[in-house]
Amino acid sequence: MSTIAVETTPVDPSLSTYRAAVVHDFHAPLTVEQVPRRQLEPGQVFVKVEASGLCHTDIHAAHGDWPVKPSPPFIPGHEGVGIVVELGPGVGEVAIGDRVAMPWLGYACGTCDHCVSGWETLCLEQKNMGYSIDGGFGEYAVAHARYVVKVPAGVDPFDAAPLTCAGVTTYKAVKVAGTRSSDLVAVFGVGGLGHLAIQYAAIAGGRVVAVDLIDEKLQLAHELGAEFTVNASKEDPVQAIQALGGADQAIALAVSPRAFEQAYGSLRRGGTLVFVALPADNQVTLPIFETVLNGITIVGSIVGTRTDLREVFELHAAGKTHVTRETRPLEQVNESIADVEAGRVTARIVFEL
Ligand SMILES: [Zn+2]
Ligand SMILES: [Zn+2]
Repeated sequence: MSTIAVETTPVDPSLSTYRAAVVHDFHAPLTVEQVPRRQLEPGQVFVKVEASGLCHTDIHAAHGDWPVKPSPPFIPGHEGVGIVVELGPGVGEVAIGDRVAMPWLGYACGTCDHCVSGWETLCLEQKNMGYSIDGGFGEYAVAHARYVVKVPAGVDPFDAAPLTCAGVTTYKAVKVAGTRSSDLVAVFGVGGLGHLAIQYAAIAGGRVVAVDLIDEKLQLAHELGAEFTVNASKEDPVQAIQALGGADQAIALAVSPRAFEQAYGSLRRGGTLVFVALPADNQVTLPIFETVLNGITIVGSIVGTRTDLREVFELHAAGKTHVTRETRPLEQVNESIADVEAGRVTARIVFEL
């Protein structure tokens, strides 16, 4: 497969700028422009990006939708995959020529209670690719060597890109949900995340019911292993899932508070609701009485660790998962954002650099 050939030539020392998509203003489109190459700091690597996925978080970043905002100008992208072409001082974790993924968790302190207990994703000192540090929407990117994850041989970089956020986030959500064989798992939202959540829930032994508003997405869900599908624009997903006995776990991936409320309502007694999506509208209304009497667990799940991402790549290399994506040139970044927002993209857009 030519797509997984690894280039081992170090970067041209005369390279002074490279092409990247930059957010200058939360209310203006991104501009694709030349940005300066920076001197690497200790522990950093320079990566020649091959593929970079477009996540809904990039869109929220570009629009400044969330309470904690990035500071323009910045380069979005936390599904960048590419080849290490330069090592900063003291880097021993990776070598020139390694293919690596640059996930949302771009840096963590490594020594706080969260970091040392395997919850580096909760580190208060963390920096996030494409948000607080420049991300993967460019021909090159600077990353911290300790927080990149090697992509195994045999995993196509265009598959690795969506796995780097959409994959690891839903893989972790299924872990946090505690899915066991025969559990009914309701997946709300079938896009870039949902199409992978369905597969991880099935790998864990769950029977999956997928909920979306668009029939083509539900068809994809069915092809990827969802036993049941519900079009929430045509029938009430709460009633439909309760008719199946109620969900043992519901995973909320749609950026709509209404979908979170429906996911809650779809649970059986003792069920678990996992919050994953981050709607710009940050409020949801859930009943206290039913939560207490029905013994409901509600848990938030944020991306996944390096270990989780290694496991995601291992499953993919073993042929256990399928990534649905389409590739586009980086120049189409603004049209691609519009298409994702309008629900016109079945799963994931991956920019080819
Ligand atoms: Zn993401
Ligand atoms: Zn830490």
